[in-house]
Amino acid sequence: METKFPGFSGIQMIDDGAADGAAIPLTAAPSAAAAGSQATESKVVIVGSGPAGLTAAIYAARANLEPIVIAGYVPGGQLMITSEVENYPGFPDGIQGPELMELFRKQAARFGTRFADVDLDRVDFSERPFRLWAGGVEYRAQSVIVATGASALWLGLDSETRLRGRGVSACATCDGFFFRGKHVAVVGGGDTALEEATFLTRFASQVTLVHRREQFRGSKIMQERALAHPKIDVRWNSEIAEVLGEDVVTGLRLRDARSGDLHDEPFDGLFVAIGYRPNTDVFRDWLEVDEKGYLVVHDETSSKVEGVFVAGDVHDHRYRQAVTAAGDGCRAAIDAERWLESIGLAEAATATAW
Ligand code: NAP
Repeated sequence: METKFPGFSGIQMIDDGAADGAAIPLTAAPSAAAAGSQATESKVVIVGSGPAGLTAAIYAARANLEPIVIAGYVPGGQLMITSEVENYPGFPDGIQGPELMELFRKQAARFGTRFADVDLDRVDFSERPFRLWAGGVEYRAQSVIVATGASALWLGLDSETRLRGRGVSACATCDGFFFRGKHVAVVGGGDTALEEATFLTRFASQVTLVHRREQFRGSKIMQERALAHPKIDVRWNSEIAEVLGEDVVTGLRLRDARSGDLHDEPFDGLFVAIGYRPNTDVFRDWLEVDEKGYLVVHDETSSKVEGVFVAGDVHDHRYRQAVTAAGDGCRAAIDAERWLESIGLAEAATATAW
């Protein structure tokens, strides 16, 4: 499962959505000329390929807007590093996050969405068409939907950085397999930490949740599941002062959050699950961000630049669910389409045909 959906194999830099959802990779190098005007200009360019971006793509594509999705080098958003998704409606037995995103993508491709699996480097929103640069290619768009989501946070310790990939990870789904029969720690007290800890019990002999307070903030059902698990124990009121080990993780130096006392404990790995940071750096010169760095929206999905819309976790720090992000992508696509209609760039009355 960890390696089953590492990306979307067969899809290269840019592919046009085929009727059956299969990718048609371009063989040429990704330059604007090679990609052709069809692949670099659109009425809607969507940045981001999580639930928000891909739902926006499904809606925009079905409105004949032929969207281009700048999907990122690691397409699929946070669900690509999620294990079981049990709360996405329509999947009564649950579904793996990467598998869910693959289905989203196939659905968007089926209606003609074109994908560029590259990261966005910079944008110019000073005039229309808006300009976006990604992977050495300039894209032009009459409207843009920003759905870049949020990325995992790290503790910020030098030892954590040094040992990343050597026992330190932020992705249990990706790396859990390597900890078969080992004792691992998970830091954090939210749903991510509880989910990661529960998932890791499939491999690890023991999972210790390290939390800086004496109460989790995660949902009740996930707390109960984690706390009831015989392989999971908790170090309450504990902070990580240092990750120990030269070449691989051998333990953690834990600090008692109340007394400040330090002590070392042996561990074979550390999973960091302390929340997320919105991916807004590229847009900061053009769009408004709040004090936590999230994009600010007005009038549901609009940004302060007319024609630039926002969807998903990049502005939503309240709900942050796949299903709310998907709903938001739908709203942004409808708003973009109606706005394009209002300036005469989309056929009228399609908004009733969603
Ligand atoms: P979160 O709810 O913000 O929780 C972050 C946790 O990390 C908190 O317990 C926080 O401690 C701790 N933390 C933050 N910075 C820290 C630091 N520097 N050192 C040590 N601990 C630190 O983030 P999340 O768990 O990633 O969840 C984000 C959202 O996604 C939530 O809305 C959640 O419900 C949702 N989610 C849902 C699912 C699901 O339903 N399957 C799965 C994952 C996430 P404090 O509690 O002391 O602040």
